[in-house]
Amino acid sequence: MPQDRHRRPKPMQKKLFTELGLSPELLKAINKVGYEEATPIQSEAIPPLMEGKDVVGQSQTGSGKTAAFAIPAIEKADPANRAPQTIVLCPTRELALQVAEEVAKLAAFKRGIRELPVYGGQSYERQFRGLKQGAQIIVGTPGRIMDHLERGTLQLDQIRMIVLDEADRMLDMGFIDDIRTILKHAPAERQTVLFSATLPRPILELIRQFTRDPVNIRIEGQALTVPAIEQVYYEVDRRAKLEVLCRIIDLHDVKYGLIFCATKAMVDDLTEHLQARGYLADKLHGDMSQALRERTMGRFRRRAVEFLIATDVAARGLDVEDIEVVFNYDLPQDAEDYVHRIGRTGRAGKSGKAITFVGGREIYRLQNIMRFTKGKIRRERPPSVEEVQEKRENVFFESLREMLDKGEYKRNDELVDRLLDLGHSPTDIASAVLHMMSAEKTRAASADVAEKGRAHRDFPREPREFSGPRDRRERRPRDDDRRAPRRERRGRDEGRHDERAAAVSHEAGMLRLVLNIGKAKHIQPGDVVGVIAGAANVPRESIGSIKLLPKLTLVDVAEEHAETVIRKLNGIRFKGHHLSVAPATDF
Ligand code: ADP
Ligand code: MG
Repeated sequence: MPQDRHRRPKPMQKKLFTELGLSPELLKAINKVGYEEATPIQSEAIPPLMEGKDVVGQSQTGSGKTAAFAIPAIEKADPANRAPQTIVLCPTRELALQVAEEVAKLAAFKRGIRELPVYGGQSYERQFRGLKQGAQIIVGTPGRIMDHLERGTLQLDQIRMIVLDEADRMLDMGFIDDIRTILKHAPAERQTVLFSATLPRPILELIRQFTRDPVNIRIEGQALTVPAIEQVYYEVDRRAKLEVLCRIIDLHDVKYGLIFCATKAMVDDLTEHLQARGYLADKLHGDMSQALRERTMGRFRRRAVEFLIATDVAARGLDVEDIEVVFNYDLPQDAEDYVHRIGRTGRAGKSGKAITFVGGREIYRLQNIMRFTKGKIRRERPPSVEEVQEKRENVFFESLREMLDKGEYKRNDELVDRLLDLGHSPTDIASAVLHMMSAEKTRAASADVAEKGRAHRDFPREPREFSGPRDRRERRPRDDDRRAPRRERRGRDEGRHDERAAAVSHEAGMLRLVLNIGKAKHIQPGDVVGVIAGAANVPRESIGSIKLLPKLTLVDVAEEHAETVIRKLNGIRFKGHHLSVAPATDF
């Protein structure tokens, strides 16, 4: 085969993007997207494509092929010319959308470069408008692109690059004739790029006929990145959604999630409810000022917020990696929104999960979404109270076991001996103590919830307080809580009531700041003074009262120094912990 002349030895080499001769605008965008180094296929394909060569590439799903062709296409596009210059053909609308989204991100800092997705199912009206306005990079399914060629709404005369993405799948879907026609009508002076997982005969034929001396690249082995999004749905009655949501979060111990609601009012509502149940939740919607939105997103990115609740529109500017679960608390309007929403999890090789709630007749809308995405959305049964209970009991059991193993508790031999002397068995004593603990905990929780209901803007309760086996309203324990001796925990419960009041300093001229570290990390007031005086170079006299909470510290600082403290201390390492400092009123 003639192409074999160019076949390279199996390249597994990864390069830095800075080694690939890219423009500063592209490097900036790549940095913003968060790619640290080029994947093997990117390392191999970008240089020849930048030189103007044809490329035939074979690599696994998830190996980063999109950027491999998108980067050169963007670099080569002429911003002064609005006519289509690159056409990317994809087998499905879903893929076309994904590719267009990636192009948009990578072209973010290139002025005048536009991309346009063109696929079946979307209104022609919208596509005519888009085509008329002009876009250098058109991403579409072969059928719809053919349609536009026939209608004369899309011209190929300025095309300089054609990309066939997932060529073998397009073949399977019967697009081969459309592809041939498009290739035949494009200018001969162009680059042709073809990516395919396999190279069956018709594809080889296509390569022979339509490419010129292509560089063949074949990457074997493990995909670097697997967009492994597990998709499930739950049939839930509208009124039960909140309860089911909390059960899922607790059962699967979700720590970082994005929750979508249909309207701003529902965003407000759900945020309040989750906060009242002790989750660190915050919201994002269109009514908020840009500054406030950015602050909230920043907190979410830093994980000072566990759950972000948002509308589709508000979440558009949100770019956060590593979200564990995307919840569709309300079903998205259409498949396009669905794809956008769930695309925020499972990025860059991490696995992610998308959970969708549907009620009643919404199931039909979900079926439409499934048809569109060709994705499998598995039905799951909402967890029962018993399952959640069992999980809590297991966690409780584990924490007790660990405490016993480590011996990290204060001994009460005398008390125990007295009870034994009275003839109670060790089992009875232990059971009675456990019972007392859970009863006490439940009372504390009810009191707290009642109070929460009245408070308007709450200081966030520390998440994941220790919870006994009976206690359903409280959050599950977190690792360091589990290890904390019980006596300290009780102290914390008592302290909780003044946490809200504590958010405001009563000393004139002082501003109250909150640090994201507390007693649980064994810090002392002296440490806090030390880091403020030392790292921020603020006189010790300007530091006022210090209140240590389990995972937060509230500290009063003279107003004139507060800004310096925030600026100097944010992000530094303190006791092995990335410090974050903010005005307490920010919460
Ligand atoms: P393919 O087309 O080969 O299946 P994609 O282009 O869809 O792969 O990329 C899969 C995932 O990998 C995407 O989530 C993408 O954002 C991510 N990705 C692409 N390039 C890189 C890179 N250089 N570093 C880290 N992640 C990357
Ligand atoms: Mg791909």
